[in-house]
Amino acid sequence: MAVSRGIGRGSAYVMTAQSVQVGLIEEGDTGREVSRFRSALREAESQLSGLYQKVREGIGSQAAEVFTAQALILNDSYFIQRVSVLIETQRMNVEGALSQVIDQASHAFVMMEDPYIRERAADIRDVGRRILSILATQTRSQGAAIPEGTIIVADELLPSLIADLEYSKVRALVTGRGGKMGHAAILARSLGIPVVSDIHEATTSIHTGDLLIVDGSAGLVFINPNDSIVQEYVNLERDFLAERETMKALVDLPACTRDGVTVKLLANIGKTADVEAALLFKADGIGLFRTEFGFLIRDHFPTEEEQYAILKNVAEQFHPRPVTVRLLDLGGDKGLPYFPLAQTQNPALSERGIRLMLKHRNILESQIRAILRASSDHPISILIPMISGLEEVREVRHLLESVKESFKSEGRGFNSSIRLGVMIETPAAALMVGALAREVDFFSLGTNDLVQYILVADRGDPGMAPYYRPAHPALLKIIRSVIRTINPETKDLAICGEIAGDPFYFELLLGLGLRCFSVVPTEILEIKNIIRSISLPEAEKVARQALTMSTALEVENFLEKRWQAKNPVVREI
Ligand code: PEP
Ligand code: MG
Repeated sequence: MAVSRGIGRGSAYVMTAQSVQVGLIEEGDTGREVSRFRSALREAESQLSGLYQKVREGIGSQAAEVFTAQALILNDSYFIQRVSVLIETQRMNVEGALSQVIDQASHAFVMMEDPYIRERAADIRDVGRRILSILATQTRSQGAAIPEGTIIVADELLPSLIADLEYSKVRALVTGRGGKMGHAAILARSLGIPVVSDIHEATTSIHTGDLLIVDGSAGLVFINPNDSIVQEYVNLERDFLAERETMKALVDLPACTRDGVTVKLLANIGKTADVEAALLFKADGIGLFRTEFGFLIRDHFPTEEEQYAILKNVAEQFHPRPVTVRLLDLGGDKGLPYFPLAQTQNPALSERGIRLMLKHRNILESQIRAILRASSDHPISILIPMISGLEEVREVRHLLESVKESFKSEGRGFNSSIRLGVMIETPAAALMVGALAREVDFFSLGTNDLVQYILVADRGDPGMAPYYRPAHPALLKIIRSVIRTINPETKDLAICGEIAGDPFYFELLLGLGLRCFSVVPTEILEIKNIIRSISLPEAEKVARQALTMSTALEVENFLEKRWQAKNPVVREI
């Protein structure tokens, strides 16, 4: 698995895991074991705070947050209690009890559907290993022994593995386990260290001293390659570095068409990795903050305080750039393990989005309170998901106003003119934009759902993919009509569905009149590259022609031909 791009050449340094002494203890020794556990927890906490400092100074505070998150595990009362109970009731030694609890917790995460959450299991294992290593009174100072130009080979890509390293000495990492969305992967990417993981038996099939070439873009590892492969990679490495420089240059260039039309490039965020990438690629702000993620990683609804902390943290990092926070969008394809939804025949057409939240006002109110609190110091706005008409907007507005009133009486600071906007992701909302425009401050086109509802094709069902066609003339006509009715010059209109960041549709969308695109952060530079290669009159011509077509296939073929003819140089990051 290609985890972090780039090419590394060097000699292997194999790090192997230590073995754990698992055993049973005498009844009278349980107190001693529990206190060994507690003192190891304190030591682990102090190590994590040291790592936090080191990474914060070396990489940045966002990247260092992983160690704050890990420290939270150390203080989790449920975790501490489970280990203690195993020691006291099963007479396990602390190593055994800890290994069991960590295994179970990590297994529970691995079973989760969301790959990002699945990879949180690595943090739990990382914390477990740290405590075990403290118990074994082993120090974790391997970094000091690593020679210059090394490629580290380890069983698992863990955050502390990277943080403990002397960055300048490491050329690449090869690991047996580890995913693309784990914290360690994020750290490696921000350090620019190439990483390939999922290499079975990495630590046994590779030996210290082997010459390795790690291709973090293709996900390949060569062990003692022949000269022609080495030469091939020397050339590739040179091209890669040159390309990286070009992309870096793009970060600070304006998102302007050849004829000088400026396009706003915002980011869609959900998880920490997105925030990091959006900052790195200098997004103009956050066009869509999907708040579901902060709810998904917990086993209970986050409190107002917890939500406020998340929002404040993101808004602070982007300040003074705008952050658009979407109210919790549950139902349909989005669920929470601790908030079971009624089983219905057709979830996409059942209670979801704002309709669902209006039935659970306490959840909605606590989120609105958190957003309003964060709005006192930052340009935050509220986005309502899945509306079908004015009634839902009015109900949210009513609730918002009542929260404002209570804030006033509580003497809390907030932005009294906080902007309220709506997603256009149902045909009803698209057809009602005129009336909506009189009562909301901005719009965001959610084409992921809009396409599914217009074309009657489940967005998550691969079997319906032949019908799920964003180039369908029906969608183009609806977008065109929304733009004409709203007039983006007087009312903000963004597009935040996946097609906004898809180079294939970009020129068409620009030509239709869109000027504000909210995309997956890692797509920002690719889209910027396209923007800088096209001109508005050409894009408008493309849109005009596409609008004359009667089938999705016709539009797709037309865009495909255009793509081939122009063949713009699109570079990957
Ligand atoms: C959309 O529907 O286009 C959208 C951006 O929302 P989500 O993908 O979160 O449903
Ligand atoms: Mg949606």
